Amino acid sequence: MSDRMAIVAGNWKMHGSLASNALLIQQLRAGLADVRAKCQVLLCVPFPYLAQVASLVAAGTGQSALLLGAQDVSEHDVGAWTGETSAAMLKDLGCSHVLVGHSERRIHFGDSNARVAAKFMAAQRHGLSPVLCVGETLVEREQGQTEAVVAKQLDAVIAAAGVAALNNAVLAYEPVWAIGTGKTASPSQAQAVHAFLRSHISKHDATLASRLRILYGGSVKAGNARELFSQIDVDGGLIGGASLVAEDFLAICSAASA
Ligand code: PEP
Repeated sequence: MSDRMAIVAGNWKMHGSLASNALLIQQLRAGLADVRAKCQVLLCVPFPYLAQVASLVAAGTGQSALLLGAQDVSEHDVGAWTGETSAAMLKDLGCSHVLVGHSERRIHFGDSNARVAAKFMAAQRHGLSPVLCVGETLVEREQGQTEAVVAKQLDAVIAAAGVAALNNAVLAYEPVWAIGTGKTASPSQAQAVHAFLRSHISKHDATLASRLRILYGGSVKAGNARELFSQIDVDGGLIGGASLVAEDFLAICSAASA
């Protein structure tokens, strides 16, 4: 890690209930004070629980402050788009961030690079910071395509939004083969891709590249977080399964604060 402020982002995916959310937030708020978190802590929760979690996190300040995010957003601003949720609505509910291009959206819901770029821009139009997820499949890694794949995913956003748009965004490298599988990229594998992404962006704007936070996601656990986060280009994590267990998530926040 560098002097960039780390972010630990929890992605609850499609988990939670009013009761379990309240308990989890209570445990996180209590624990974050002990962790003395020196990182930003972001919770990306399912749409129906945004209002609940917004009110639960509203009282937190200082070390127990929690940021609110969504897991997806419509590329459209308003109108006849049944089932969609706009960036303005997310902002209205108190979100500061939104995931765009998570591999589960790309794989199961047809989010192409072009649509991800449109979602990225919709988020920014309404004052949200997109957390742009990129990552390769196992086949792509085995074929030596990792850099080409993540560059293409990133370039689609740069082409549509302009590189300066990354000033108000976070990048997350999430190898698809490591998400929810228990297989984690080794610290050196993660570092290599993060360094590649940073150098790719620095061809456009070196200052922006040096400031951009790049998170690693893919089976981050309490036991591997410290080593992953110690890599110079890894600025925190995007955490799925382990974000649902307060003790585990707090240990990961602690690792990012070391
Ligand atoms: C994710 O959902 O983005 C993720 C990285 O999941 P997990 O930590 O469970 O692999």
